[in-house]
Amino acid sequence: MNEISPRRKFIAVAAGALIAPLIPFARFAQPAEANSGGPAAPADNSRQSQVTGTARKGDSVNNWRNPMESSMKSSEMGWNGKEYVLPPLPYDYAALEPHIDEATMRLHHDKHHLAYVNGLNAALSKLAASRESGDFAAVKHLSRETAFHGSGHLLHTVFWNNVTPGGGGEPSGKLAEAISESFGGFGAFMGQFKAASAAVEGSGWGLLVHEPMADRLLVMTAEKHQNLTAWGVKPLLVLDVWEHAYYLKYQNNRGAYIDAFTNVINWSDVAARLV
Ligand code: MN
Repeated sequence: MNEISPRRKFIAVAAGALIAPLIPFARFAQPAEANSGGPAAPADNSRQSQVTGTARKGDSVNNWRNPMESSMKSSEMGWNGKEYVLPPLPYDYAALEPHIDEATMRLHHDKHHLAYVNGLNAALSKLAASRESGDFAAVKHLSRETAFHGSGHLLHTVFWNNVTPGGGGEPSGKLAEAISESFGGFGAFMGQFKAASAAVEGSGWGLLVHEPMADRLLVMTAEKHQNLTAWGVKPLLVLDVWEHAYYLKYQNNRGAYIDAFTNVINWSDVAARLV
């Protein structure tokens, strides 16, 4: 399609997805689907980027690692070497019951996350066409689409790995030390993380991130994942508080969902992201 290597393309997109949203004061117009709890099903059924490309752990093609997410296997990242793909859950759909229900997981992963993957691939395909034709009339829209769907794809990929059956409890080792140093203790951290997540207006995320300048941890929220975060941070623990993540089981009781989430946190995964 063009001379840009997949690796370079990924770096550009990863940077775009994580950095474009960070432009201070940027208030990008919301794609229509952003207010409905997640992206709508793709309107363009002709696009080739469907779940057929789903990566499996151990695929030889998935040998590239995103430097921004160095703890994640490329197969977990949702990138097959050519295009973005829906990464398989690292457990069964019902594995997080009763905390996160099977129906929500199927809808959340198979529909909402897939729509982000397809939207990201579609935006990149259209941007490639723009470069070939020299017609950049839609570049503003497509840049926003890249940020919206790219952030959605990257954050959901972290999210699935952030939780595990038999999770919960407290972290240990380096992560526990970093949490203690940054927040004054695990309880204090969790108090802030849960309160911040519950206070997100509308849809969004609660995030534990590493800020490299001070080498410390911060709690952040992204009310619109395409435009609210901070330059240079790396998500360690992300909590999806879009309604599609909990409404089937918990309706409007986001707090109960957040409490349930703490029972399935995969602290080993979170710790592995703190390199
Ligand atoms: Mn979600």
